Amino acid sequence: MTTGSPSSLDYDVVIVGARCAGAATAMLLARRGLRVLAIDRGRYGSDTVSTHALMRAGVVQLSRWGVLDGIRAAGTPVIRSTSFHYGDEIVAVQIKPRNDVDGLYAPRRTVIDRVLVDAAQTAGAEVAFETHLVDLVRADDGRVCGVRLRDGRERERQVSAELVIGADGVRSTVARLVGAGCYRTGRHATGVIFSYWSDTGFDGYHWYYRPGVSAGAIPTNEGATCIFASVPQIRFHETLRRGADAGYRHVLRECGSDLAAIVERSKQVEKYRAFAGEVGFFRQSFGPGWALVGDAGYFKDPLTAHGITDALIDAELLAQAAATGTEAAFAGYQSARDTLAAEHFEVTDAIASFEWDLPKVQQLHRALSEEMKKESLEVTNFVLSPA
Ligand SMILES: Cc1cc2nc3c(=O)[nH]c(=O)nc-3n(C[C@H](O)[C@H](O)[C@H](O)COP(=O)(O)OP(=O)(O)OC[C@H]3O[C@@H](n4cnc5c(N)ncnc54)[C@H](O)[C@@H]3O)c2cc1C
Repeated sequence: MTTGSPSSLDYDVVIVGARCAGAATAMLLARRGLRVLAIDRGRYGSDTVSTHALMRAGVVQLSRWGVLDGIRAAGTPVIRSTSFHYGDEIVAVQIKPRNDVDGLYAPRRTVIDRVLVDAAQTAGAEVAFETHLVDLVRADDGRVCGVRLRDGRERERQVSAELVIGADGVRSTVARLVGAGCYRTGRHATGVIFSYWSDTGFDGYHWYYRPGVSAGAIPTNEGATCIFASVPQIRFHETLRRGADAGYRHVLRECGSDLAAIVERSKQVEKYRAFAGEVGFFRQSFGPGWALVGDAGYFKDPLTAHGITDALIDAELLAQAAATGTEAAFAGYQSARDTLAAEHFEVTDAIASFEWDLPKVQQLHRALSEEMKKESLEVTNFVLSPA
């Protein structure tokens, strides 16, 4: 089911949010034989404000879950190189095929989220779109034991569940309703404007840095390249005051890159999208009858393009904990997530500060690269437990 009402009033797990975190978690739990309902207020296969670059650990997850073929079948191009442009200096890195992964991918959200939803349904999960979480239901002892939902026809119904998972993004309603506090926050945020361009000639990721500005080119589906322009949050509204198009091109020119010229001669195939920025956080991500996954539980600035990869890793960790079901297992989930993410979070925050010169940002990228190597190794070790 992709729209309409749930077929039952009782599930093992209800997941609020059915994008990369929620749909992946639904798929993994259904594969373990649990009765799962995932709901989303959005539509099946819809887009969202996000660029698309997956890092190796994310691609490893998709591959071992058997869903990478669906991403490839949608025509998502394989990425075999990443180039860092530090002013006029270019550092090019080849992406070596490893662990059944031939390269990186940057699928549109209309592709990756849909492929994961389809896989969740194939595994036996129900997915109800255009369905809102209205409230949580609690037992006499305060434990969360279900949800009140409202569908597209304004019909409300109550559904009970052993576990309610919030995969409902940065402004998670589940987190608000359970009062999940943040125990660690970042200090910096970046604003970003992006759009899609055809015939750019890019076939790898390209990241551009100049003091105070950054940009990137990410080849994605249908021959388009997602090109973004990033500034410190404090400059974001000033940039937009010029108008999205003028502000965007201004930042690309400031990057001193060939990107502005490429955009000049390419065809824009979609409207501009913008994100004003959000400071990163770690939230308490489990409690009696509830848990959080993806951006709902842990968010970091998108400048290092890692949120989808994080969501896919967290889905695996949470599914393992939920299958065990003990408080210790959920505590282990949060602690494993935080251990994997802590250094990455700090380095991302430092990059998002824009308080760097070119040698410093290169040093930060080397630290990030070390973290990603460790992360890939950890994720490969997840193979120890069945997907
Ligand atoms: C501008 C930008 C660029 C980015 N670029 C990258 C990138 O290149 N690479 C990368 O890895 N990451 C990137 N990210 C981060 C990435 O988009 C997020 O980390 C990722 O979307 C998190 O997925 P999620 O499933 O946790 O949450 P989301 O994608 O936010 O999905 C949450 C879902 O919950 C649903 N929902 C919310 N509330 C309710 C409710 N009350 N009832 C029902 N449904 C509800 C929403 O409809 C939504 O579909 C970027 C983010 C931004 C903002």
